[in-house]
Amino acid sequence: MHLHPGLFPKRTALLAGFCACLGLYTSYTSAIGYSPTLSELIEPQPISNTLTIPFYKLAHPHQQVSPYQQDKQQGVGAAQPLTLPSFVEPSAPALKPTAIKEKVVKTSISVAIIIDDLGYNYEQGLKAMQLPGAITYAIIPHSPKAQFFAQEAQKHNKEIMLHAPMSTINHKPLGKNGLTGLMEEADFKQVLNQSLLSLPSVKGMNNHMGSLLTQKSQPMSWVMQSLKQRQLYFIDSRTSAQSVAWDIAQQYGIPSLKRDVFLDHEPNEAFIDKQFKLLISTAKHQGYAVAIAHPHPETVAYLSLNLSRLHDAGISLVPASELAKRFSPNQLSPKITKSVRGVTQTATR
Ligand SMILES: [Zn+2]
Repeated sequence: MHLHPGLFPKRTALLAGFCACLGLYTSYTSAIGYSPTLSELIEPQPISNTLTIPFYKLAHPHQQVSPYQQDKQQGVGAAQPLTLPSFVEPSAPALKPTAIKEKVVKTSISVAIIIDDLGYNYEQGLKAMQLPGAITYAIIPHSPKAQFFAQEAQKHNKEIMLHAPMSTINHKPLGKNGLTGLMEEADFKQVLNQSLLSLPSVKGMNNHMGSLLTQKSQPMSWVMQSLKQRQLYFIDSRTSAQSVAWDIAQQYGIPSLKRDVFLDHEPNEAFIDKQFKLLISTAKHQGYAVAIAHPHPETVAYLSLNLSRLHDAGISLVPASELAKRFSPNQLSPKITKSVRGVTQTATR
């Protein structure tokens, strides 16, 4: 049909265009189940776990519950990794599973895995350091291979921390650089500072053993004073349920977390697998989790095969420093503290 220009004035054309836009917007909002603002339409907003949902997923008419809705229903931290949605038609080339995987940019659920006790066994330590990803390595100061592993970590762009030997309930030998409750303040701080000076690239510290010393407030205050001076973070290895180390680190304003899971105190595959699953479930529950492992051959073999399961579960592996800065209660802004209060309480137990 040929329309005469006089029968179709500009005003009518504008109105028709507006109606068409409104119609598109209405079908879009009904498909995704909520009405985005103009700014969200222009620039899709990342949802709570910063998963970027591709537009084509939201707009698909067969979708019953939108990812936005799922996230709202489940709450922050409960978002599941994206899987291929059931509405995807095999014939639609833009909706291949690989295309969706590439769109998952980042998730805020994170874990740190710290491998302790580096410095004595050269071969096992080296294999542990060759594991992929942002694993953090805790080096025993003045151990025979301490300097080697510090350099090796730099080469592989891995974070290291000081693994400071501390006295135990059953009086295990500590070596000459161990910290005990019998030391005077000056002596105590000198030993700790020498250890820190020997590994200048450390970003933080955790305790090696220490089931006795971490129960004592005064020496733990001395530890935190030294860490504060150097702006280092602290991870309480929790070798004693009565440890006060984390509480004191919090009081000093030091970014600090507690170990949630020991991966390998029984170094066999079945046990490590059980603990690895616990790490994943703890991270999903709290929003983060800290694991400590050791350079046992079984652990290295297990992690080299299974680290990718973190990614599959929508969890990022990050250095301990990043986890401590993001999740230490004393580092959270009041606004964030309010929104993750439940998480914080769970974490402090
Ligand atoms: Zn240790």
